Amino acid sequence: MTETGEYDVIIVGAGFAGVHQLLNIRKLGLTVKIIEAGEDLAGTWLWNKYPGARVDSPMAIYQYSDPDLWRDWSFTELYPDWREIQAYFRYVDNKFDVKRDVLFNSRVVSAHWNDSDDRWTVTVEDGRVFQSQFISLCTGIASKYHLPELRGMESFKGEVHHSSRWPEKYHFEGKRVGVIGTGATGVQIIQEIAPIVDHLTVFQRTPNLALPMRQRKVSVEEQARLKKELYPIFYGRRYQTFSGFLYDVDPKPIADTTPEELALGFEEKWAKGGLTFWLGAYAELFSNQQFNDEAYAFWRKKVRERISDPELQEKLAPMKPPHPFGVKRPSLEQRYFEVYSQPNVTLVDISKTAIEEITPNGLKTHDGVEHKLDVLIFATGFDMVTGGITSIDIRGQDGVSIKEKWADGVQSYLGVASATYPNMFWIYGPQSPSSFSNGPSSIELTSEWIIDCIRFMKANNISSIVPTNEAQHAYSEHLNQLGSAGLWSEAKTSWYLGSNISGKKTQMLQFPGGIPAYAKLCNDSAAKGYHGFDLKRSSAST
Ligand SMILES: Cc1cc2nc3c(=O)[nH]c(=O)nc-3n(C[C@H](O)[C@H](O)[C@H](O)COP(=O)(O)OP(=O)(O)OC[C@H]3O[C@@H](n4cnc5c(N)ncnc54)[C@H](O)[C@@H]3O)c2cc1C
Repeated sequence: MTETGEYDVIIVGAGFAGVHQLLNIRKLGLTVKIIEAGEDLAGTWLWNKYPGARVDSPMAIYQYSDPDLWRDWSFTELYPDWREIQAYFRYVDNKFDVKRDVLFNSRVVSAHWNDSDDRWTVTVEDGRVFQSQFISLCTGIASKYHLPELRGMESFKGEVHHSSRWPEKYHFEGKRVGVIGTGATGVQIIQEIAPIVDHLTVFQRTPNLALPMRQRKVSVEEQARLKKELYPIFYGRRYQTFSGFLYDVDPKPIADTTPEELALGFEEKWAKGGLTFWLGAYAELFSNQQFNDEAYAFWRKKVRERISDPELQEKLAPMKPPHPFGVKRPSLEQRYFEVYSQPNVTLVDISKTAIEEITPNGLKTHDGVEHKLDVLIFATGFDMVTGGITSIDIRGQDGVSIKEKWADGVQSYLGVASATYPNMFWIYGPQSPSSFSNGPSSIELTSEWIIDCIRFMKANNISSIVPTNEAQHAYSEHLNQLGSAGLWSEAKTSWYLGSNISGKKTQMLQFPGGIPAYAKLCNDSAAKGYHGFDLKRSSAST
């Protein structure tokens, strides 16, 4: 591929956000190109194809809201797996010929702004250079994977896999497999491979306060009924709830709630499954420690009923909460807690016996035990939320890279743009509702806002837009205040705060005030002629 060129808009990344931007920028009649590091569409679901990888948002809202798309598409399960989501992207491509405007296998390494002609120069790893008026960073929250530094790694004689760089072919039957990490990905891998491996050793730092998924098949007929009666309502409702799901947090004060009401509420949310017990809970779950303890006690009771061994009960659902319930993202599980009672599964608590080193034949913990392994799986996550953006050498009006600017903490206005980086937007990234929300809900919200902004600029001969320092400071302060009002910082290590990566500034990385509050801030700015931004009129019109 030798293509270079000039575009109105360059989009980086071909997941949900990038494809939404592309389809809608085309409608403005502008020239546009997606530059994508991977070999296909689907973003997260192109890279994360480990055993058991599936979404924990229900299928009806884990897709685009465009009726031309949902009318003819059906999933087979309530929570689709990566194969189905990849198939969905193939369907979107067939319908709208997405790929004609995508350059695959092309990693953007730098983007430099030129104030004299209001354009970005975008460079790809192999040296190709592109120019555009706007760049839209749709790089995702989980593009930069994280491997912890462990002594002896290079000496290991077996296979090593990070969950987000999964090989096409693998065989775990008859093998001794180790999994490091019990976040959402770890939970999915563990429950999937435990029945087929010879032995599974799980290295757990923090128990996952996982919730029952209640997966089920969804027939085409059931979806046809939903489409006819409810899909348009679903897509409107997404913008009205805290998290972009169809259920909402209940603002009623706990002090006004009777013990009976609470007990029945817990049972009802538990029975519904999915993330209802978390994002459909009372709002005070996130700020009231005493109430949070009650929710945790309920969760612990339900989980302990599924584990017979008292030692395992304490490791997986300890009497003392490892952190307030819900301040780290709970995963959805299908048979996760039962897996540990299988004779071929060992759970090692590395908060008590830390990993000492990787050896040629396995992994040694601090107590001197060497766990013999043929395969080592790192389910150790990502440099979340900021990593995709700071991996690119982005330089704005003052020539300072965004990585340097954000070394002491992210600063943005509306979680969509940053001062000194004109005509640069991002979607589903730092200081937006991001993973506090259902992905496609907040992605479409922000993407539509950006499209409207570009339309406004074109209609009014405005050549550049950039947040003011004052507006950025006020927004970032507002977000920090919202973050510190909650229990979030009670988690020792949390990717919500960046504290899963050593040396990264600890701060609330996402907007924790809910989608309606976020949308209001964005829409108010637009309604006031993009208040909080400096707009520069095109020299051609002066
Ligand atoms: C394992 C996992 C499970 C998840 N489960 C859920 C869920 O249940 N519900 C939910 O709502 N969300 C979930 N998410 C979040 C998920 O990322 C979003 O739902 C959604 O896919 C985000 O879409 P996106 O387009 O913003 O980013 P992505 O899908 O991450 O796409 C970003 C794309 O940008 C490309 N890219 C990055 N940097 C560059 C570069 N420098 N040059 C070129 N290309 C680049 C990447 O290759 C990638 O293809 C999950 C994420 C992960 C990792």
